[in-house]
Amino acid sequence: MKKKSKIDNFLSRIFGANKKRFEQIQIDREVIEEIINIARQSYPREFVALLQGKIINHILRIDGLIFVPGSTSQEGAVMQLFMMPLTSDAVGSVHSHPGYSAGPSQADLQFFAKKGFFHMIIAEPYTEESIRAYDSFGNQADYTVI
Ligand SMILES: [Zn+2]
Repeated sequence: MKKKSKIDNFLSRIFGANKKRFEQIQIDREVIEEIINIARQSYPREFVALLQGKIINHILRIDGLIFVPGSTSQEGAVMQLFMMPLTSDAVGSVHSHPGYSAGPSQADLQFFAKKGFFHMIIAEPYTEESIRAYDSFGNQADYTVI
C-alpha cells in the first residue's frame, strides 16, 4: 500500500475542506446595485469594500458591504486592505478599476490569496455585466444574483 506523505495529507485536508465550504455563491441584487453606484461615484478613483456574507447549507450568500477607512484611492485601493484584519463575517472584497479591464493585477492576486475567499472587480462602464468574480487563486468564479 502506498503511503501518502504528511504534506500531501495536510494539503488535501486544507483544499478538500475549502472545496466543501460552499458549492454556490448568491449575491443580493441590492449589493450589486450598491457596488455599481459606488464605482460610478468614486470614478476616476478606485473604491474598495469588504463583502459581508455567510455560508448556509453549502451556499455562500453575500448580503452586504463593509466599508473601511480610506476606501477610495488613486493608486490601488486593495493596498488599503492589506493592513485590515477581516471581521468574522467578511468573506472577501470588491473593488473598482478605472478602465475596461476587470482582470486582477499582481497586487490584487496577492491580496486575494491572503484574505477571504471570494473577490469581485468591477470595471467600466460599471454595469452588472462588467463585474468579474474570483476565488483566492484568481480563477474566475460564478455567482447568481438573487
Ligand atoms: Zn485591482
